[in-house]
Amino acid sequence: MILKQFVLGAIEDNNYLLIDEKTKEAVLIDCTEESQQIDNAIKEYGATLKYILLTHGHFDHVLGVNSFRAKYHCKALIHEDDKFLLDKMKDFARSFGIPSVEIQNVDGFIKDGEVIEFGTNKIKVIHTPGHTKGGVCFLLEDKIFTGDTLFCDAIGRTDLPGGSFQQLKSSIEQRLFTLDENITVYPGHGNSTTIGHEKKYNHEL
Ligand SMILES: [Zn+2]
Repeated sequence: MILKQFVLGAIEDNNYLLIDEKTKEAVLIDCTEESQQIDNAIKEYGATLKYILLTHGHFDHVLGVNSFRAKYHCKALIHEDDKFLLDKMKDFARSFGIPSVEIQNVDGFIKDGEVIEFGTNKIKVIHTPGHTKGGVCFLLEDKIFTGDTLFCDAIGRTDLPGGSFQQLKSSIEQRLFTLDENITVYPGHGNSTTIGHEKKYNHEL
């Protein structure tokens, strides 16, 4: 599997493009904005974008969704508990000083335990509420994509609508820290890390 990381937007969000080497089916994890770089990578590998998987509904992770859906006819999926964030996106973005944003549309909802396939790869959805109600992580063999739930040496903020520190703490401790310590963590912002490193050195819990 090919993994490409793109750092996009004003808040430097990580978007991850995963491509199955054999079938060229691809998924994009989070979708900050239209991106020539991502378009080029899709073209370069001859990839077919099947899904946009959203870790949560905050504007900095989703504002490219409509444009990617239109361009690649892929399906965008989010946890249902974050749908309200998409609906309230205009108010939320305004509170961050971003004056006008377009409401983003999704094609379906994902839930805890669901498995999403592309090529021969299977991505498991792990619901990890706390940063937002519908926050999820995506587990694929020895990799986990954690959005704003878990960062390198930090955790997501819990002061935004739907956030809860207690919930985030228990999501991380019960759903992520119980995974193999060698799993690489690919967060929504900043550097990658491992489950083992965060269990030992993350002091925000
Ligand atoms: Zn967020």
